Amino acid sequence: MRNNGIIARYRAHMPVSDDTRIISLNEGSTPLVPALALSAAIHPRLEIHLKYEGLNPTGSFKDRGMTMAITKAVEDKFEVVMCASTGNTSASAAAYSARAGIKCAVLIPEGKIAFGKLSQAMIHGATVIQVKGNFDDALNLVRKICHDYPVALVNSVNPYRIEGQKSGAFEIIDDFDGVAPDFQAMPVGNAGNITAYWKGYKEYHACGKSDALPRMLGFQAAGSAPIVLGHPVEKPQTFATAIRIGNPASWKQAVAARDESGGLIDMVTDDEIREAYKMLASSEGVFCEPASASSVAGLIKLSGQGFFDAVQPRTGDKIRVVCILTGHGLKDPDNAIACAEEPVTVEAREEAILEVLGYSVPAFV
Ligand SMILES: *Cc1c(COP(=O)(O)O)cnc(C)c1O
Repeated sequence: MRNNGIIARYRAHMPVSDDTRIISLNEGSTPLVPALALSAAIHPRLEIHLKYEGLNPTGSFKDRGMTMAITKAVEDKFEVVMCASTGNTSASAAAYSARAGIKCAVLIPEGKIAFGKLSQAMIHGATVIQVKGNFDDALNLVRKICHDYPVALVNSVNPYRIEGQKSGAFEIIDDFDGVAPDFQAMPVGNAGNITAYWKGYKEYHACGKSDALPRMLGFQAAGSAPIVLGHPVEKPQTFATAIRIGNPASWKQAVAARDESGGLIDMVTDDEIREAYKMLASSEGVFCEPASASSVAGLIKLSGQGFFDAVQPRTGDKIRVVCILTGHGLKDPDNAIACAEEPVTVEAREEAILEVLGYSVPAFV
């Protein structure tokens, strides 16, 4: 079946009318990839699936929320939208605004966004403003300006973003024919996405499309873990720039998702994230950005603490976990190159290549 985007696919669950002009790039319907090698490596009783959100039109899950936010901004007659961004929101806002024919301004923390994301916002024609501060400073400025001027705010504090992003949960349930996974693992930054997934799971369950609710496992980077620590972090640090946020806008909703679902929000170090990032790429063939890998890093940490040993799966004999891989690895090529083996350089001769490959070179060559 042709994919016409998440609003068309889940229209009955979305705040649109017959007259709404839908601004879409046919986002969503992303693959749910079974991760056999990773499951075996982490815990013998785990059955891990990867929701590969990097395959959305601009390379991250932000497109699910942005189709809805830009559609409503146009419907409400806004001609300018604005956001603060660690990168992916600006890439998505710029692309959907270009498609809608409206103006887009993005505020990004100076020098702290991945190169691929910056290139997207620029090529789509957004006004890119680098702020000498962090994400939290940028979001405060955007909130003030959107309050005082006729500018639509398209950060995840915009409720339409959450409405769009909840479609990820619907897709997971649909792919499993109405059976909810035991757990969902995901990164937590500004906490809009964990809020959206939990809303989606609850809505689908309430209308009888899902047999149960998953337990939500959220992971912050150790240098940017306000929810775990219980207080805002003034100067958040982590190489996983998409979750480098010290004071999440949807803090309360994230805690509610955690507690209502019987889940947890924990933190993982940059080294643990880096390890999971490399493992995903080298053992599953799935290239995600560092922030996304914190979901898998979290599972490794929990498994090491014996967390899964006493868990009873709801169906079958495996504990089914879905990891949300929020963004594509190509967003951040600098970190990939920094984490991987350097290429070797040789003379343009067959023996030199064979030597690198470890084949013995015949004496007559
Ligand atoms: C935005 C983003 C996150 C964090 O999502 P929140 O809704 O802010 O918690 C994680 N990973 C990637 C790749 C992102 O772009």
